[in-house]
Amino acid sequence: MTNAPQNSSNQFPRVLVIDDSPDVHRLLRARLKQEEIEIASVMGGAEGLAEIKNSRPDLILLDLDMPGMDGFEVLRSIKDDAQTVHIPVVVLSGLASPEDKVNAFDLGAHDYIIKPFELTELRVRIRAALRLNFLLRMLSQRAQIDGLTGLWNRAYFDRRVQDEVARVQRHGGALSIAFFDADHFKSINDTFGHPAGDAVLQGIAQVIQRESRQSDIACRYGGEEFVLIMPETNAQDGFAFCDRLRTALESVVWPRHPERKVTVSIGVAGSSNGASLTASAWVEAADKCLYAAKKGGRNRVVLNNLDAPGVQQGQPPMLKAG
Ligand code: GH3
Ligand code: MG
Ligand code: MG
Repeated sequence: MTNAPQNSSNQFPRVLVIDDSPDVHRLLRARLKQEEIEIASVMGGAEGLAEIKNSRPDLILLDLDMPGMDGFEVLRSIKDDAQTVHIPVVVLSGLASPEDKVNAFDLGAHDYIIKPFELTELRVRIRAALRLNFLLRMLSQRAQIDGLTGLWNRAYFDRRVQDEVARVQRHGGALSIAFFDADHFKSINDTFGHPAGDAVLQGIAQVIQRESRQSDIACRYGGEEFVLIMPETNAQDGFAFCDRLRTALESVVWPRHPERKVTVSIGVAGSSNGASLTASAWVEAADKCLYAAKKGGRNRVVLNNLDAPGVQQGQPPMLKAG
């Protein structure tokens, strides 16, 4: 199975408490025992930041007055970092002046609770912050998922391909990218209707997802085009995998039109060490191969091995008698 968008896990939300007082940690653990949350505790600001990077909690309860790095500084760092800016921070502080509150909210605090806190109020505020975090995460994931197929969408692909290429540029290693385009898809719509066309797109997505590896990233590029990012996969392996997928798709029997096969053309660009290539060079190379696969007769895979430039054609489909 590919690394397709996942439903959120059913683990309890994780709450990180950053406070220099062991009594506060003890008290919170005792008082929040009944809540369906998992609590982690750290005693200082610097340690807290390291833990946030490491474990990405769902909520942070933050003391302000701490020796060394104080809570304001911790809050500023959390909100300055694109990786952590979305994590809600509830300040839990003995500092009760309006200036401290205004500073904390200006820096991006979600809520501010003054110690000593009232238990019921603390609970509802924690729940409210967790609910908001959950909704924001769900919205941001939805915005990256294709509604028809459930694969990652084009916007996600555009970001992810940059990340994967940057990783190869930094650390070396293999990468392959494959573009898929359904053959004569317009005629499926024209002959069997648009809903049948939609069902085919969903079916193609399912096969791609089922056949590929957990580390592969399957996306709908748009219309009847799909793209698969295959990290740590060299050109030959990417080509072999895509040809297997081509065969798997060709052999699907479609419930709405069992008499009519659907085939795909595939263009693959791969390298075992493409450190000098940009994301757009990679995409362009794969796209050119897709074009060559179409021109060459469809239902085939065309590879550009970027380590040894030149184009390799996949096995043309077997001619069937009759
Ligand atoms: P080729 O083999 O050259 O790729 O031919 P084709 O017919 O697949 O390509 P063309 O670009 O001419 O047509 C693509 C068709 O895909 C036209 C468009 O209506 C259809 N399409 C795009 N998005 C969707 C969708 O979400 N659902 C359905 N049912 N059809 C779609
Ligand atoms: Mg197309
Ligand atoms: Mg097409």
